[in-house]
Amino acid sequence: MTAESQPVLPLPSGIAVHGAGELSRRVHDEPPHAYRSPFARDVARILHARAFRRLAGKTQVFTRLPADPPGDHFRSRLTHTLEVTQISRTLAHALGLNVELAEALSLAHDIGHPPFGHAGERALDQALREHGLRFDHNLHALRIVTWFEVRYAGFRGLNLTLAVREGIIKHSRDYSADDHPDLAEYFLDQRPPLEAQLIDLADEIAYLTADLEDGLDSGILALDPLREEVALFRSFHDEALRLYPSAPSKLTVNEALKRVLNALVTDLMQEIYARVQSHGITTLGGIRQAPERLAALSPAMEAERAEAKRFLYANFYNSPEMREAHHHADYVVQSLFAALTADPHLLPEDHQAHIPAQGLARTVADYIAGMTDSYIQQLWTRCAS
Ligand code: MG
Repeated sequence: MTAESQPVLPLPSGIAVHGAGELSRRVHDEPPHAYRSPFARDVARILHARAFRRLAGKTQVFTRLPADPPGDHFRSRLTHTLEVTQISRTLAHALGLNVELAEALSLAHDIGHPPFGHAGERALDQALREHGLRFDHNLHALRIVTWFEVRYAGFRGLNLTLAVREGIIKHSRDYSADDHPDLAEYFLDQRPPLEAQLIDLADEIAYLTADLEDGLDSGILALDPLREEVALFRSFHDEALRLYPSAPSKLTVNEALKRVLNALVTDLMQEIYARVQSHGITTLGGIRQAPERLAALSPAMEAERAEAKRFLYANFYNSPEMREAHHHADYVVQSLFAALTADPHLLPEDHQAHIPAQGLARTVADYIAGMTDSYIQQLWTRCAS
């Protein structure tokens, strides 16, 4: 083994989730594979899922409709997912955590996202509220991997390990046991393992840096205000300008952005290590019982991140161009939801079959949540526009 392949800040080995024991348990027993770990098999099951492939057609920031974005190199939810996976694998390896578990959770982290990104999610949630229900993309992801994916003759769902199912719902938030008795097996009164906790931060880091790049590239963001308002970017951009005084602007921006990404990931790695040390934790049980989640940026870097995110909200996510797209998403999702609940025969037969058990509103929401941007646009044009 070469020196580069060793973890740089290895946590005590008892903290990593191991591919044996309770957390690698599946709902339906399966014999172990000859040479693949349980989490490596979960990575493959998620990669081969239909819901995973549909991420290519779903909004990250720009919709995937033909007229938008102004180019075909902007992030989709699939390429965003792959960027999160790269960051999570790096962090898990550097800290001596379970890389395959972090990879599986990264690949699945947005699998429950509806079309049209957060605007689509808000619209679907709004439509469901009128029926006393809510839409939550983490809970929907769990339903996808435990029910909607049908690939095996012996059972529905992907039969993923307990650690992956727990991480899918808990990587970014906690759920109270009182509100969710159906989730009792997922240790709701305990913190998730670090492999799950770090996904949420890897997600933040991935989209923060990617959205600055896509925002600039689309022309919605401008370089001067970014330099003025985001100190973290400015300091690395100054460094890039010093190192490459005659390079094209786009390349010095790229040099700055990759340094921003590296600084955020390095800070996160060091902060996780420091927090585990300061709590004196040496086991997974210690991570589960810790008074707070231990995957976090340092306070100084968290302030830098928050400044960059405020800039993105003010100048990109809430820009007039984006507001128009959000408005369209809201209208399409809500009017299609109304059309399908008014006439359930518009649903495909396999979805109609879920109505007795799930109720009409949830069945319609499940159908819409699975759609890509272009599919919902086409169906809306046909049924509801
Ligand atoms: Mg994400």
